[in-house]
Amino acid sequence: MTVPRPAVIIFIGPPGAGKGTQATLFAESRDGYRHFDTGRAIERAIYDSKRKDDPEVQLERERFEKGLLTGSHFKMQIITDGIQKIAHEGFGIILSGSPRTKDEAEFIIPFLSDLYGDGSLVIVHIDVPPEISIMRNSRRRVCKKCGQPLISNAENDAIGFCPACGGELVRRVLDKEDIIAKRLIEYMHHTKEIIPYAVATGVNVLDVLGDGTPEEIHEIIKTKMASITV
Ligand SMILES: [Zn+2]
Repeated sequence: MTVPRPAVIIFIGPPGAGKGTQATLFAESRDGYRHFDTGRAIERAIYDSKRKDDPEVQLERERFEKGLLTGSHFKMQIITDGIQKIAHEGFGIILSGSPRTKDEAEFIIPFLSDLYGDGSLVIVHIDVPPEISIMRNSRRRVCKKCGQPLISNAENDAIGFCPACGGELVRRVLDKEDIIAKRLIEYMHHTKEIIPYAVATGVNVLDVLGDGTPEEIHEIIKTKMASITV
């Protein structure tokens, strides 16, 4: 199997920008990619019943539930394991949920370049205004089984189960309003610094305004992606 180009697509944006949704749409519409959602991988690790007596895991769990960024060593281990597995299987990778800080970017971007080659990375930066970020997160429920998010509206408010797989829909601790505000501040302070660093290292950065339906945003990203050569 040949690895697709660009081999690595990284979705970055504030909470509620639709990074996970766009990453999923992209992975479904193109062959040769695997989606690695860092948030989901971390959630799996910190709620893993086999690790409930591990003090490092419990500390990470506390930080996570307060809306703080999880400690870097713990997180980087989960990310590098996940990325390496996908690369060794010969797939391109679609990342959402990391890097979240410049420090992480300085570690992850060279790591990915080593695995996939220079010039094989594209960052899709989806931005939304804070009020949309807060509104979307406070109305969000997530499928316990497959992780698909569902933003509540008049039509689907009564739905109790995931339209995709039938799993139970739950509200995440992370999506409580005060936690969202904290996540937004973390984003403004830390995540945004990744963009100038990425540009300086020669990574293509596509800027997209995430104000629209998932399908509309997906079309915009596809068009922008077609305009670059990697
Ligand atoms: Zn589901």
